[in-house]
Amino acid sequence: MDSMSNQGGNILLLDAAIQAIPYGFCVWSPHFELIVWNQHYLDIYGFPARRIYKGMPLEEVVQISAEHGNHPDQSPRDFLEAYKAELLANRSGLRSKVRELMDGGRIVETAHVYSPGLGWVVTHEDVTDEIASSEIVQRRKFDLERQNLRFDAAVNNISQGLSMHDAQGRLVITNQPYQRIYNLPPHLLRPGTALDAILDHLSNAGMTTHNGDLEAYRRWRRDLIARREYGKAIHELNGRVILMQSHPMKDGGWVTTHEDITEQRQQEERIRHMARHDALTGLPNRVQFIEAMDAAEAAILRGEGIAVLCIDLDHFKQVNDSLGHSIGDKLLQHVAGRLKAATRENDLVARLGGDEFALLLRGGVSPTDAATVAERIVTSIGTPFMVDDHQLVIGASVGISIAPADGEDGEALMKNADLALYKAKTDGRSTYHFFETGMDAAIQKRRSIEAGLRLALGREEFRLVFQPLVGLEENRITCFEALLRWDPPGRATVAPGDFIPVAEETGLIVPIGEWVLREACRTAVSWPDNVRVAVNLSPAQFKSKHLYETVMVALTESGLDPRRLELEITESLLLTDNEPTLRLLHKLRALGVRISMDDFGTGYSSLSYLRSFPFDKIKIDRSFMRDLKTRSDSLAIVQAVIGLGHSLGMSTTAEGIETTEQLEAVRAHGCNEVQGFLFSPPVAASSAAELLAAERRTTGAADGKVQKRA
Ligand code: C2E
Ligand code: MG
Ligand code: MG
Repeated sequence: MDSMSNQGGNILLLDAAIQAIPYGFCVWSPHFELIVWNQHYLDIYGFPARRIYKGMPLEEVVQISAEHGNHPDQSPRDFLEAYKAELLANRSGLRSKVRELMDGGRIVETAHVYSPGLGWVVTHEDVTDEIASSEIVQRRKFDLERQNLRFDAAVNNISQGLSMHDAQGRLVITNQPYQRIYNLPPHLLRPGTALDAILDHLSNAGMTTHNGDLEAYRRWRRDLIARREYGKAIHELNGRVILMQSHPMKDGGWVTTHEDITEQRQQEERIRHMARHDALTGLPNRVQFIEAMDAAEAAILRGEGIAVLCIDLDHFKQVNDSLGHSIGDKLLQHVAGRLKAATRENDLVARLGGDEFALLLRGGVSPTDAATVAERIVTSIGTPFMVDDHQLVIGASVGISIAPADGEDGEALMKNADLALYKAKTDGRSTYHFFETGMDAAIQKRRSIEAGLRLALGREEFRLVFQPLVGLEENRITCFEALLRWDPPGRATVAPGDFIPVAEETGLIVPIGEWVLREACRTAVSWPDNVRVAVNLSPAQFKSKHLYETVMVALTESGLDPRRLELEITESLLLTDNEPTLRLLHKLRALGVRISMDDFGTGYSSLSYLRSFPFDKIKIDRSFMRDLKTRSDSLAIVQAVIGLGHSLGMSTTAEGIETTEQLEAVRAHGCNEVQGFLFSPPVAASSAAELLAAERRTTGAADGKVQKRA
């Protein structure tokens, strides 16, 4: 040290240099004494300059340092020991760095270099700020990593595929769903991959878009990217449907999302299908049928023949009511199958609702073609169905309209086919009918009848007329048939043939029939005891369940002997729902009431109906009398029925006897009773009474001859 002090100016220079060092600086002698230091050194540890002197032992410096609150984590002694050990270990010449905790939480880093002969040259640096700032950097790095992880998780966990491209069109990032959706090989997922390379691959893999024009698609993508616009397209690949949406980014790149919408599409397709199809049969529904007819209008204008067939099932309601809806539903499904089978691929079969179906025949259809199809449908639906071990017999009525003659648009064609259907139904069902002009007027007439009928009973517009039935053995009037007449205000009398069917369809026949029964019994009670009254009953009256009570009331109210009442029923009554009807007929017969089979030979004409119930009387329909002279088979039938009646113990009545030839013919074959204009048309009650009175006056004088009306 002395040699140093001798050098005067040099020392000053050295001191200036030491002071200029930007951190704390000191030198410890090999004996741990402070030899040189600078102001920074004092500042770092907070040492007052006056307390520090040259040659100051380390021990003392440590003491002062402790007094200033430095290295608070250690006792001065411990620190001294440790520091000394550190310095001694450092003598090998290695530079060592130690960080010490100082007063106020500051951290000082000391670096030691041992210089043999001189001792330890030590620098001291307050690194508190530096450490703090490096911690911020560390945290930032950590945060960034965490954010990256989160981003990664987010990107890979969204269900949509995602890919990002930079402004040069190079791939930046993709996620797992993207890789899955397109099943791209790893080399095409690498950052930097060009969009075109990916599109090339997908094109080879069979992707279609833009109606199969992949070149047009590429042009569209390029254009979209260049204009930095949003756009979307549908990709189809391996049976999957993918919605691609491209979103531009500020830097010229873009992000595309890729969504597998296959299920969604299928769902939409299902909903679309449901809206246009009937759920039960799977056939097109009314909506689709109307659409198809609208679409056919252009063809109609070109003059192509189009036919609309309206189809309605006969007796379906009975099946539904008696066997339940589940059988009814299955039957409708079978019907749908047969209708499909009876038509061609190009024909449209639809279910309009309930038991109504419709058929659209396109492509130059002639009336003959339409009739052929209608015929086929009537036959097919008329063939018995097997549903759950039930053999079901129904039928189909078909109405046909043909464009352009019967209408030039769907609405008119439908309306007219419907009118024709109505005609087919009233024609006895299980048949088809073409539309004819004038049908509309007929329907109008029917509607007005219906409206008038609803009021007729209350307004007392009905009356009964009576037609005599003459016993050929008794040679006198044995019975009067009560026949209904309606006199609507301001109009001519309406015959039952015109209003009874309407009354039956609307259910009005029930109260009307009740009135007829009471009125007929009330009238008949004034006649001689050996004259009966016959009342016609509709099948609809049997369905009302109150028929028995109604008959009872009419009899008791009037006091008429039940044996003087005859009820006339037709074959159609026994066609359906046999059991309850037969039970009711037996019940009525047990009262003493006689049951007649009316209009025999017209309807379904099965002799077996005669076996199902012990009728008292068979009334042979007047159509056979009309043809008696011209058709030999008519005579044969009349003959057979009379014979059958005899052997079954049923009396026979010939209806519609207009001529003496007819009378003689039926008499010759043993017919019991006759009715017809030859004797008397139906007459008012007062005239009936007169007929009976006149008969009484001539009894005996008539000499066994049947009275003939002049
Ligand atoms: P129906 O029971 O067969 O009645 C006989 C029909 O034949 C009557 O027609 C009668 O006027 C007609 N007639 C009688 N003799 C002759 C003849 O020699 N030649 C011709 N061409 N016709 C003859 P009407 O009164 O028009 O009745 C028609 C049908 O209406 C009846 O046929 C019957 O089924 C029904 N009907 C009439 N009144 C009632 C009723 O009160 N209730 C029900 N449910 N049906 C009724
Ligand atoms: Mg009758
Ligand atoms: Mg009759």
